[in-house]
Amino acid sequence: MNFRFILFVLFTFEICSCSGNPNNTDTSVNSALVKQPNPAYSADYLLGKFNQKTDTMFGAIPIKYCSKEGMYLRKETISAFVKMYEAAKKEGVSLKIISATRNFNEQKSIWDAKWNGSRLVNGKNLSQTIKDPVERARTILRYSSMPGTSRHHWGTDMDLNSLENSYFTTAEGKKVYDWLKNNAVTYGFCQPYSLKSESRPNGYEEEKWHWSYMPLSSVLLKEYSGKIKSESISGFTGSETATKLNIIELYVKGINPECR
Ligand SMILES: [Zn+2]
Repeated sequence: MNFRFILFVLFTFEICSCSGNPNNTDTSVNSALVKQPNPAYSADYLLGKFNQKTDTMFGAIPIKYCSKEGMYLRKETISAFVKMYEAAKKEGVSLKIISATRNFNEQKSIWDAKWNGSRLVNGKNLSQTIKDPVERARTILRYSSMPGTSRHHWGTDMDLNSLENSYFTTAEGKKVYDWLKNNAVTYGFCQPYSLKSESRPNGYEEEKWHWSYMPLSSVLLKEYSGKIKSESISGFTGSETATKLNIIELYVKGINPECR
């Protein structure tokens, strides 16, 4: 083997190792994560079983970007969001984070309350109106994630401006959504819950407010797919429905293909 051949092999390998997800704009972050399996990417992290207030991967979002104090995201997500926020602001578009990281216990409170009827779903107490557990879970899943399966666990995903799709059809909301559709990808963000279609037949309904920082979340989705089985989705009321609903395949992976 001559020296030039060795150089050729090394060069070719280096080129190949760079061809990551084309949606990723921050390749330095992504390739570092792919090449060095991070012990922080434990099953517990992927399932949201941590405290974002004390975990060093997470940072508090400065209040000027949020609707309230006390919201956290992965530090890389915050940096990327700040760049996007400033670019939007220059074009007269105001972005506001209204929900960010929710850990397992926080998601469990939402889920359990909807399951047992202490929180109404579309004005209904589901514990009285839907007796079949699978049907009750499916109804809650129209908009809320099952604990352990939410992208909000990862610190990469956020809800912007309003939790109503109708807001994004108002003059102000449409301007925000159109700007995001045209520009978010430049900053690494993607809308995972796009309109249901042939290319996205499964999973949650459309959420025009939910945006994900792809350089991290595409890696985390791969980690999740490899490490988490439906038996790991437990510890809340009605968790036995996770396997019956094929929750990982249809919901966790049921996202806009552009966000993979
Ligand atoms: Zn969301």
